[in-house]
Amino acid sequence: MRRFDDRTVVITGGNRGIGLAIARRFSAQGANIVLASIEEQVHDAAETLGGGALAVVCDVTDRDDVVALYEQAEDRFGRVDISIQNAGIITIARVEDLTEDEWDATLAVNTKGVFLCCQEAIRRMRRHDRGGRLINTASGQARDGFIYTPHYAASKFGVVGLTQSLAKEVAPDGITVNAICPGIIETDMWAYNDKVWGSMLGDYGPGELMAEWVQKIPMKRAGTGDDVAGLVAFLASEDAAYITGQTVNVDGGLIMS
Ligand code: NDP
Repeated sequence: MRRFDDRTVVITGGNRGIGLAIARRFSAQGANIVLASIEEQVHDAAETLGGGALAVVCDVTDRDDVVALYEQAEDRFGRVDISIQNAGIITIARVEDLTEDEWDATLAVNTKGVFLCCQEAIRRMRRHDRGGRLINTASGQARDGFIYTPHYAASKFGVVGLTQSLAKEVAPDGITVNAICPGIIETDMWAYNDKVWGSMLGDYGPGELMAEWVQKIPMKRAGTGDDVAGLVAFLASEDAAYITGQTVNVDGGLIMS
């Protein structure tokens, strides 16, 4: 018996980066996988997993898309046991240059998107009455805001607040809600961060800013999607049955609070 046999997991932002690493971990441990992303490429990602993974094109900021995502998941696999709200975006700009559109788009994906998915997952988990697990991706920026990303930091602090509030409401239904804070994880997002922060903070060449920041990590290495997947799998497992409303860092010791 594998850890997630007979469990169905929805993963938003599942077609690359951290989300795909999480999907691989759950797939290897027996779960039915539902991958959701905004690009069609999510179908290719699902195929790499094998095992009948379902791919759904879904914009997490759109309520109808989100409802259709969970509907399709239930149609294919019967019910959703675990929902991982991982889709996220970032932009980097000086405060006078940060546009209202950037602010709105970032909060829409990173905070409202998490809320809409949690809301729909909870509605269905309550109906099935078998409990469930919700895991929301926040960030080191939900602990400590960085320069030039007030909108991103606000969106991720928001994830922690909604996680705590929902956890209190749904605990009696056997549903846990937790958040995770990845640090510096090597993905497309960090390639963008390295380039833009690097050009704004000094005369950094490709990879140089990230290398400098990695030296500030006590473990002296960037994280991988697999490092994050290990934490998510634990929080989704029976071993974490008595853990809810928590926010856990996965960052090699970068932030110790
Ligand atoms: P990537 O940029 O590699 O992937 C982001 C994912 O989010 C993509 O799959 C993308 O879909 C999806 N996405 C974006 N907008 C939407 C939307 N409106 N609806 C549905 N899906 C959407 O990022 P990471 O893998 O690095 O990040 C994953 C999460 O981890 C994010 O929430 C991020 O904020 C967080 N995080 C990342 C850190 C890092 O160092 N990498 C550090 C801390 C937190 P598509 O491919 O289809 O465009």
